[in-house]
Amino acid sequence: MSVANGRALLATPGPTNIPDRVLQAMMRPAEELHTPTIIDLTTTLLADLQKLFRTSGQTYLYACNGHGAWEAALTNVLSRGDKVLVLASGRFAVGWGEMASFIGVDVEVLAGSWSAAVDPAAVESRLRQDRDHKIKAVLMVQVDTASGVANDVLAVRRAIDAAQHSALYMIDGVASLACMPFEMDAWGVDVAMSASQKGLMTSPGLGFVAANDKAHKAHETANLRTRYWDWTSRRSPLHYMKHCGTPPEHLMFGLRASLDMIFEEGLEAVWKRHSLLAGATHAAVSRWAEGQCLALNVDEPAQRASSVTPVLTKGFEPGKVSEFTRTMCGVTLGGGLGDLSGKAFRIAHMGHVNAPMVLGSLAAVEMALQALDIPHGSGGTAAAIAHLSAAVSPAGG
Ligand SMILES: *Cc1c(COP(=O)(O)O)cnc(C)c1O
Repeated sequence: MSVANGRALLATPGPTNIPDRVLQAMMRPAEELHTPTIIDLTTTLLADLQKLFRTSGQTYLYACNGHGAWEAALTNVLSRGDKVLVLASGRFAVGWGEMASFIGVDVEVLAGSWSAAVDPAAVESRLRQDRDHKIKAVLMVQVDTASGVANDVLAVRRAIDAAQHSALYMIDGVASLACMPFEMDAWGVDVAMSASQKGLMTSPGLGFVAANDKAHKAHETANLRTRYWDWTSRRSPLHYMKHCGTPPEHLMFGLRASLDMIFEEGLEAVWKRHSLLAGATHAAVSRWAEGQCLALNVDEPAQRASSVTPVLTKGFEPGKVSEFTRTMCGVTLGGGLGDLSGKAFRIAHMGHVNAPMVLGSLAAVEMALQALDIPHGSGGTAAAIAHLSAAVSPAGG
């Protein structure tokens, strides 16, 4: 007998739960594409994306998913045959590099770990060897959604500077924007990209890129540019060109509502909420791990993402747990990806999530472990509650 009926909960690391306010904002008639409402919507979204990326650089909004924003970022600053260095820490930076290869970029992957952050010293030493500055860009994810690793964006910037290297620094923030601190300008990031369906709690279908002056300088000579992604045409004063055609109106109304929610809560408060809910999740998994059949993937707490936690499974099929939580409890977990395929499930705590939602996901996992007789340390959900109750005070401190 299942107890899954009720509001279904997505604990997948994208797409994530869409707030009712965002869904309702999209329930409206289509408009002629040049109305003051649509023009104003475009202007405020581009300005608020600057606040989200923490940049005074230029922002761009595309009708695409994260893969599209990857391509937008690459084609605007690179030329065929340019070399880029991809800093691996799981699946996603490597995936970005694969897209670069496909369009004629020479991609070198700096090998990394699936359970630890990119090592800034390794980056510095590789860049020092590149005396002629053949490497035109360094690509890294802030959070690798497959491994649950969070990279130190500022530390890698310092490594690039220590090597006195001129490469553009390009960051994928799809699984970290509005989940963890990101400071594009203060951290010296030249190009950053993200998408709508993770921390931004909106329907999949919008991609974002932010770029500074150095990136726009590279853009002037980049020969991989194509019309749809092209920054120059999107900087035209003509509204129509800002979208290279009809704006994705309804997605934009949804995004407007989601950004309003983020700024009403306060961006720092949003980061803090994610960090607390991630800590609760880590506390639960650490407790379950005492049974020797489950483990956190990332050992170093400071290198764990605030948005997603992969849980390694030993001696049992992870799909059994996710099948149980979905069919019996109405909670959909993420599966393992890449090296962790068939070896992990992932609990996302990203976007529109609060204590009962995350505690509910954890309780559903714990229920599955009990029902399926999977050895585990007891009291994981209680440990998560203890973590939150120690951190959350009624005075709001
Ligand atoms: C989800 C994700 C992507 C890909 O986004 P899509 O919208 O699925 O194309 C890229 N990078 C990271 C870090 C992600 O988490």
